[in-house]
Amino acid sequence: MSSSPTRPDAAHHSPYREAMERGYTRLRFEPELEAAFQLEQHRLNHTWLRLVFWIGVGTYLVFVAIDLATVPLHASRWTAAIRLFLIVPALAAALLVSRRPAWQAWLTPAVFMAAVVTGLGTVGIVALSLALDAPLPYEGTLLLPVVIHLLTGLPWRWALGANLLALAMFLVLVPMVQPDPLTLTYQLSFMVLANVIGACGGYALEHRARTTFLTAGMLSELAERDGLTGIHNRRSFNEHLHRVWQQAARERGGIGLALLDVDHFKQFNDRHGHGEGDAALMAVAKAIAGHAARPLDMAARYGGEEFALVWYDPQPGHLRGMAERLRQEISALDLPVEGGGAGHVTASIGVALLCPHQSPRHADLLRAADIALYRAKHDGRDRVVMLEHPDLDALRFPETASNG
Ligand code: GH3
Ligand code: MG
Ligand code: MG
Repeated sequence: MSSSPTRPDAAHHSPYREAMERGYTRLRFEPELEAAFQLEQHRLNHTWLRLVFWIGVGTYLVFVAIDLATVPLHASRWTAAIRLFLIVPALAAALLVSRRPAWQAWLTPAVFMAAVVTGLGTVGIVALSLALDAPLPYEGTLLLPVVIHLLTGLPWRWALGANLLALAMFLVLVPMVQPDPLTLTYQLSFMVLANVIGACGGYALEHRARTTFLTAGMLSELAERDGLTGIHNRRSFNEHLHRVWQQAARERGGIGLALLDVDHFKQFNDRHGHGEGDAALMAVAKAIAGHAARPLDMAARYGGEEFALVWYDPQPGHLRGMAERLRQEISALDLPVEGGGAGHVTASIGVALLCPHQSPRHADLLRAADIALYRAKHDGRDRVVMLEHPDLDALRFPETASNG
């Protein structure tokens, strides 16, 4: 059994820290991390995005009424039609897609399409109203790059694409229909400026969102991981055991638990020094992590030179062999120590298997593995002892029973 390189148990590998070190000025992570980031952004932006789109629908509907009430009919029937039959449906389509979690993969394309249609439609309204001699204020088009970059939650590149299309249309159409050169100069300059401001703001916003994402990821790793070995710490292990215990209860499976204690480690430290002791613990942790191969398995540093390993629903007949292979692997770690020679490290392992329908308390499993470990030490160390059918009463009331 061996762990894949992407598994967090493979000691020090931290995708968050690596991404932080590599930098993300191009607003891109490695594919796996990028997918996690996008998912998190969708979750964070969801309510906000729906609110912005509802406000957009409302605003364009109000402008339909204003157009029809104030603009001569030969122009307002076009401008109102663009608002009502192009822009509002595009916004409504994005709202619809955002309703269904199953359509999440389509949300960014749908929001992008809505941004493109709104941008092009709004520029079209301005140009058309000028051409039809019933000019509408163009200032609304200045808001678009800011809204699209800062309020829609679109990734920066998508927002940039949508805005550049609208800007290109503006730069082509408005000079054709704006008769006053001075006004035209101002309009073009302000439109370009609004795009630059929107793009800079959007870039800064996304860059910061990525920093926050990586920082939060590294913090949660710090809270869950052991500082020396990089594998899970006791807190994270206890939470995991609680979770898998409940899952095993639902699926009527069992949980195998190995508690491992490095033998005579005080002597190892005394002989080789604390630094070599640390290196030995890291090597042992790496070996143990390699034995937590399935998704619900977990290896952790339980404290000092003690480690714990959960195997989710193992085949009962295989459990002792699995622990034995781990023991042999640790015993085969011929740790090179400073000043030549090799440090020989061995470990004692206590193993227990329990099903939640036998006992509702996972504390019983820990207790059983602890008793097995105690026996392994007592029987001479460097061995595996397995408590096959733990006597639950003996686990809970050791003073009144003989077990352990
Ligand atoms: P036993 O076989 O009975 O387990 O003997 P032991 O010497 O391993 O057990 P004991 O509890 O007497 O000593 C544990 C030693 O583990 C003492 C301590 O210095 C060492 N240890 C605990 N944590 C660390 C650590 O982070 N780094 C190093 N280098 N040593 C550690
Ligand atoms: Mg110990
Ligand atoms: Mg020990």
